Amino acid sequence: METENTNRLRHYNIPIFMPERACPFQCIFCDQQKITSQLIPPNAEDIIQSINMHLETIPHNNSKVLIAFFGGTFTGISLKEQTEYLQLVQPYIKSGRVNGIRISTRPDYINQKNLDLLKANNVTHIELGAQSLVDKVLELSQRGHTYADVVEASKLIIENGFVLGLQMMLGLPGDHWEYALLTAGRIIELKAEETRIYPSLVIRGTALEKIMLKGNYTPMTTDDAVFQSAILYQLFQKHNVKVLRMGLYTSVDLEDDIVAGPDTRHFKEKVMTYIWKQILEQQIDKSKKTNCIDIYIAPNQLNFAVGYLATNRKLLLEVFPQVNFKTDAELTDYMCYVDYS
Ligand code: SF4
Repeated sequence: METENTNRLRHYNIPIFMPERACPFQCIFCDQQKITSQLIPPNAEDIIQSINMHLETIPHNNSKVLIAFFGGTFTGISLKEQTEYLQLVQPYIKSGRVNGIRISTRPDYINQKNLDLLKANNVTHIELGAQSLVDKVLELSQRGHTYADVVEASKLIIENGFVLGLQMMLGLPGDHWEYALLTAGRIIELKAEETRIYPSLVIRGTALEKIMLKGNYTPMTTDDAVFQSAILYQLFQKHNVKVLRMGLYTSVDLEDDIVAGPDTRHFKEKVMTYIWKQILEQQIDKSKKTNCIDIYIAPNQLNFAVGYLATNRKLLLEVFPQVNFKTDAELTDYMCYVDYS
């Protein structure tokens, strides 16, 4: 279960993983069944059991809870089945224990009739797998939709009062840093309130693996994925687009099938470590002759500042004999100050 913490209200998604069902596409990077680690859709009993188990661990106060149908193309299944899934979870909304429903789908599977059905069943958040907002990249990935489709679907979703999320991928064939920036800028322009940043991984058996084996695709390095994600993360923050996740969730089953691509384990920690490395380099005067430095950080940033596997601390220890990271509750986000003693 994924959690976010915004303005002291804790956000929880209770995930219901839907494997590829009605999706007639085969995007070159996707093996949806491996990504969701199950071959058949969950039945009503599984769904109820899973929701109840999650709810037992979620506090009643100061929490916002969404049931999230992840994985497949939700609006690609029949209206009847969509209704059945959504009806199944209505008692949780009616009781007030769950605040809304999140679904993920494709941009070209959005239409007014389906949005009416989602609205009538308390769906609040719609995430579109946009992946790139550059037509050339979409075409090379065989996404089967265009940037114009994303624009049209995004407008319709917002006009109908849903929270719009646009997911993006990095490092697809034909993609590069300028296109990644362009995609992020378009996500902001389209007024998405949420996004996810997924560096491309090469999964065994996909068309992308075949293209790579023929020498026509070079996966991103981990360093490049971290660098691009760090810049985009800060850009999205500046424009109040919430980044729900960086790096694909990889189950143990899926990890065995990843044949190439950046190492996205602990990916958010790696990205935040990079952001803090830049901040510390700007803030700390390495020419000071001192035995000890104390670096003061906002409490929620402490681990990121120290760095994944303490990499930022280790870098500073190459210069100063003693390095202490301390918290100051008055500080927020990327603020810090340094005492040289
Ligand atoms: S549309 Fe989604 S589910 Fe279908 S192949 Fe593409 S990524 Fe996979």
